Amino acid sequence: MSDSQDQNARPAGALRRRGVVLGLTGAAAIMGLVLVLTWYWTSGLFLDQTHGRALAKLDLYASNLAGALGKYQSVPKLMALRGDVVELFRSSEDAAAQARANRLTETVNRLTGAEDTYFMDAGGTTFAASNWNSERPFVGHNFTYRPYFHQAMQGELGRYFALGTTSGKRGYYFASPVAGGDEVLGVVVVKISLSDIEAAWTADEEEVIVTDPHGVIFISSRPEWRFRSLAALDAAALQAIAENRRYEAVDLRPLAIEERTLGGEGPRLIAIGGDAAVPGVPEHLMVSKAMPEAGWTVHVLASTHLARSQSLTAVVVAALVCLLTLVLAALIQQRRSRLVERIEYQRRASSELEQRVEERTADLTAANLRLEREITERQAAEADLRQAQDDLVQAGKLAALGQMSAALSHEFNQPLSAIRTYADNARLLIERERHGEASSNLRRIRDLTVRMADISKHLMTFARKPQSELRPLVLAEILDETLDFLRIRLERADAEVSLQQNDRSLRVRAGRVRLQHVVLNLVANALDAMEGQERPKIEITLSEESDRVVIAVRDHGPGIDSAQIDRIFDPFFTTKDVGKGLGLGLSISYNIVKDFEGSIRAENHPEGGAVFFVILPLLPVRDAVLKSA
Ligand code: ADP
Repeated sequence: MSDSQDQNARPAGALRRRGVVLGLTGAAAIMGLVLVLTWYWTSGLFLDQTHGRALAKLDLYASNLAGALGKYQSVPKLMALRGDVVELFRSSEDAAAQARANRLTETVNRLTGAEDTYFMDAGGTTFAASNWNSERPFVGHNFTYRPYFHQAMQGELGRYFALGTTSGKRGYYFASPVAGGDEVLGVVVVKISLSDIEAAWTADEEEVIVTDPHGVIFISSRPEWRFRSLAALDAAALQAIAENRRYEAVDLRPLAIEERTLGGEGPRLIAIGGDAAVPGVPEHLMVSKAMPEAGWTVHVLASTHLARSQSLTAVVVAALVCLLTLVLAALIQQRRSRLVERIEYQRRASSELEQRVEERTADLTAANLRLEREITERQAAEADLRQAQDDLVQAGKLAALGQMSAALSHEFNQPLSAIRTYADNARLLIERERHGEASSNLRRIRDLTVRMADISKHLMTFARKPQSELRPLVLAEILDETLDFLRIRLERADAEVSLQQNDRSLRVRAGRVRLQHVVLNLVANALDAMEGQERPKIEITLSEESDRVVIAVRDHGPGIDSAQIDRIFDPFFTTKDVGKGLGLGLSISYNIVKDFEGSIRAENHPEGGAVFFVILPLLPVRDAVLKSA
């Protein structure tokens, strides 16, 4: 049974382990999903906040730039309107006028705080500049390649930003035409430094960049990003830039930008890694705003670090919550499975008990059936036995009848033939008148008839009905009387009878004559057995054994043949010669003793001779007295 349990337990264990693995995998998958969803949801949330802040900053930076430019926008226009300036333009080739113009531009430049202020004639040559006195003055330089000159010459306000070809400094240019009647005499240009604006930005958290229409970074809070493009420049763009000489002698390489925006219309997420997109480069959320008037686009690059760390915190919290849930679920599951196990154990125990009861009941039923069968068999055997017994009894009866017939015919035929002979002789003797001899023959005939009557009497006794009258008898008296009857025979045989009796008051319930007959028969048989002995000895012992009395009659004859000892009580069994025994003595005695509720048995004495025991129930003295009374 334990084997089968083991076999059941092994697949059950494997099943449970597989269940646990499946459960853990499922839990891990759900947990992973939850964490990913948490990451995306919180990223969206926190990035939206970052986006909002970035947009606000973008507005701020854009208006800041617009304000910075707006401050200078009208300066060249105002100067161009002045009569003395127009006069100076008219005499731009005059050295004195040029000197005046130089001083004027210098003064204006100082007053406005611009980078440079200069006058260009209609041919594009600078004839006066605020830096006339510096190491690299603009005076004498021709800037016709700049678009602002052409814009101004066409009567518009020229605007442009570029890296100064002479100064090597980045600047924003405002240019106004100086009208002299119908013609344009020249252009007043004010160049503003962008470095000052840029310097104010570097301290801020966000990165701010300003790009030109080609995507080249012109202003940047990060000096290393300056003059780098957001995307690779195509040939047309490079040509346009070269024609305007906007970034002369600058290598315009693109920045390594890794796009991280996962589709949709959300804010643009990028990681700018300088020359190469290196993993671990800080990520930025980029918002942009075009400033068409200035001709550039302002970008704010807000760091996503805070949003990301907030999202990460949320993910960690979610992971903890998941783990806690998992632990709780595992605990609940464990308790549940324990409960299930307990219920299963109880169910198995009760089913085992039921099975055992059933087996036991089946055993009992089988045993019952077996018993019933045995009983039937025994009954049948008993019936068979009874039948066999009946058959035997019948056969025994028939055998006895045969024996009896043979014995009787022998016993009667012999005296009858003798009688016939004696009678024939008597008739002849009477005819011859020998009366004396005839009378003797008649006497013999009489004797023979007496003997036949004796035999008949014996047969009557054998066939008698049990006499029911029993009375208390003193055994000693019975023995005395019997020996008295036998006295003549005993004397004739010169036999010696010793009678041993300790208690002469022992009583039994019996019939007097029948008991005497038994004792007489035993003593007579003893004498027969010792026939021929000189002084036959018979020992009669009367003894008491608990509630019984035993009369033992022992002789010193040849004893009983052991092969015949079982048959001596059978009727008509005799070993004596014909005419000497009928074989009825012991059989009759046996029946008499049985009538007295006693028994009779024979055995050979170890020292020779046969011993016959008559055992009778002892009558208590009080009872005997009462009964006899
Ligand atoms: P019977 O004396 O007519 O033969 P019993 O019934 O008295 O008939 O005895 C049966 C037989 O038992 C006897 O023939 C004898 O063989 C045997 N028997 C009886 N008494 C003795 C004895 N005392 N010793 C030896 N044999 C005995």
